[in-house]
Amino acid sequence: MDASASPSRSIATHLGGALNAARAAFRHTARIALDIALPTLCVSCREPVSGEGVCATCWSKLSFIAPPYCPRLGIPFVYDPGPELLSMEAIANPPAYRRARAAVRYDDVARTLVHALKYQDRTDLAPAMGRWMARAGRELLADADALIPVPLHWRRGWSRRYNQSGALARVIAQQTGVKLASEALRRVRPTQQQIGLSRSQRATNVQGAFKVAAPRQSEIAGRRVVLVDDVLTSGATADACARALLRAKAAAVDVLVFARVVDTHKAPI
Ligand SMILES: [Zn+2]
Repeated sequence: MDASASPSRSIATHLGGALNAARAAFRHTARIALDIALPTLCVSCREPVSGEGVCATCWSKLSFIAPPYCPRLGIPFVYDPGPELLSMEAIANPPAYRRARAAVRYDDVARTLVHALKYQDRTDLAPAMGRWMARAGRELLADADALIPVPLHWRRGWSRRYNQSGALARVIAQQTGVKLASEALRRVRPTQQQIGLSRSQRATNVQGAFKVAAPRQSEIAGRRVVLVDDVLTSGATADACARALLRAKAAAVDVLVFARVVDTHKAPI
């Protein structure tokens, strides 16, 4: 029995192996076919796109921020008031950070990109967004010693699996050669989402939420750092981070974001 059963079992094993190999090959082919049949879709309008996340039409709708803008806050001016003239916001509420720059205005297309990166695991968008940021922040990055992504509290980092600011900062580090110091700044207490809070509530919400841990102070002390985030709304988070970095003796803190809300009264997020 055993002697006769053995060859058939071995044939069955062979057949099974061949079948598995065929299945794997089919899956591979099917995957290639799917890649051909289903091109990448534009994150914003869902039209097929070759290459990066947004199609040409949506790209043209992104409103890239270019001079003239406030040298301090990076808020675009409608007309050029001349060099070194600050915006009213910069005079009325001078931030703890030195300068802020943003690649684009926070509008519909920018919001779609930010949400896709943040909530839909679209890390493939980070290279393009990071490149636009590197270009907008050229001035800041030219004399920077370190890039610091705005940290998530570990609890939120776990549920979202990765930090979108970290993903953007990594791309900028690769682009510019500025060192990434992801671990230097910590969020020491969870904060309520800033959505729906007033300007002063936002400031209170993030006050004391960030800290440079003592063993990491040497990465910050005397260094010119660029803080990286996806969106700048009231600037409260960036300001709280800047204060923590300045307490750790940073020589200067600049802020580089993907998108900034230009009309802060509306604060659409
Ligand atoms: Zn599109």
